[in-house]
Amino acid sequence: MTARETIRQYFREHRDEITKTVVDLTREMCAEKTVNVVSEKLPEFPFLKIRGEEYRVAKIVKRVLDEAGIPYNEYARMEGRPNVIGTLGKNANGKRLMMPAHMDVVPAGEGWDTDPYEVVEKDGFLYGRGTLDNKGPLASILAAAKVLKETAVGDELAGQLQIAALADEEAEDPDGIDYGIGYLVDEKLVNPTFSVIPDIGENMERIDIAEKGRTVFKITAIGKQAHGSTPERGINAVYMMAKLVNEIEMLKFNYEVHPVLGDPSLNLGEIHGGAAPNIVPGSCYIYLDIRTVPGMTKENVTTALQGCADRVVGGKFQLSCMSWNDAHGVDPDNELVHAIQKNAKEVLGFEPEPFGMGGGTYAKTMNLAGILAVGWSPGDDEAYHVANEYVEIKQLVDFAELTCLLAIDLLA
Ligand SMILES: [Zn+2]
Repeated sequence: MTARETIRQYFREHRDEITKTVVDLTREMCAEKTVNVVSEKLPEFPFLKIRGEEYRVAKIVKRVLDEAGIPYNEYARMEGRPNVIGTLGKNANGKRLMMPAHMDVVPAGEGWDTDPYEVVEKDGFLYGRGTLDNKGPLASILAAAKVLKETAVGDELAGQLQIAALADEEAEDPDGIDYGIGYLVDEKLVNPTFSVIPDIGENMERIDIAEKGRTVFKITAIGKQAHGSTPERGINAVYMMAKLVNEIEMLKFNYEVHPVLGDPSLNLGEIHGGAAPNIVPGSCYIYLDIRTVPGMTKENVTTALQGCADRVVGGKFQLSCMSWNDAHGVDPDNELVHAIQKNAKEVLGFEPEPFGMGGGTYAKTMNLAGILAVGWSPGDDEAYHVANEYVEIKQLVDFAELTCLLAIDLLA
């Protein structure tokens, strides 16, 4: 029997048992409140001592790997926020496939019908914070690792499968220090050949091959304050900004339309100016959220915005880029995408289509570091970060089987 046949048969014969493993693990991990928020918001969550507290879920992950006899390494930039990576296969120098899921979650928020941290099972679905994002998929990857070990298929892989439970995906502090994938990549602690990030939803129907870049710019109009009764003595920064806003509305970036991401976008999301009706406003500022496509650089976006400012006669503006990350995209004609399509067709009956996203996942960090990574996952994208977050159990079990089959195809 081939490795493939062994896995397919094992999932047919042990489906109930695997389902139970996935459900129990999801439930256990979701009960741990690994809420990740920016430092400023930490006081709003009295149950947290530090952001994320991923060690709570890491403990469960390590127990599962220990019980299965799968070796792992633990990497942490700070105590309490570890990343755990289990490995299967013969050769760490051969091809390496990383399956990473994150252990932190966003806050529960309002509007839940049940306790967000107590998973409820109903009609084939699991409800609770983290069931989809991202503890359900993590349970699914762990279940796959157990099956690969039990059937000995995992030990026979020529390359290496990396089962990764990572920290710090959901919130970024203004200091930009990353405790998850950014840390692992920066410190060269991981070096997969390819990676599948199960954190996009889309019910496994689409493969995320490109993500827009995201940048925030702040532009301040600098006028001159004066008494409201003598506006001629001041320079009204709000009038100045109004002219700039007109220019920005008409702004067209220089770019090439991307095959799946299409066009960039620009949103003027905030405007602030003035202190009182009887004061000529001395300053006024706006925030722009710009989503870029590959090819657009910080320099050419800055130049385009500066061009708008220069067209305002008598205007004086200060431009600052508050954050920047690049867009990325991979050619969908690659081994990883083909393996996903082929196996999905066999197990699910359809071939997932490549597409592009406006948001960002671990795939961006990895691609920008030269690792071929795509997003592909179970679950409904509408269930992310909302009350009554849910995931279909069947999809989690199918994803476990597909994880095994991908490892066989890519690491044989
Ligand atoms: Zn996520």
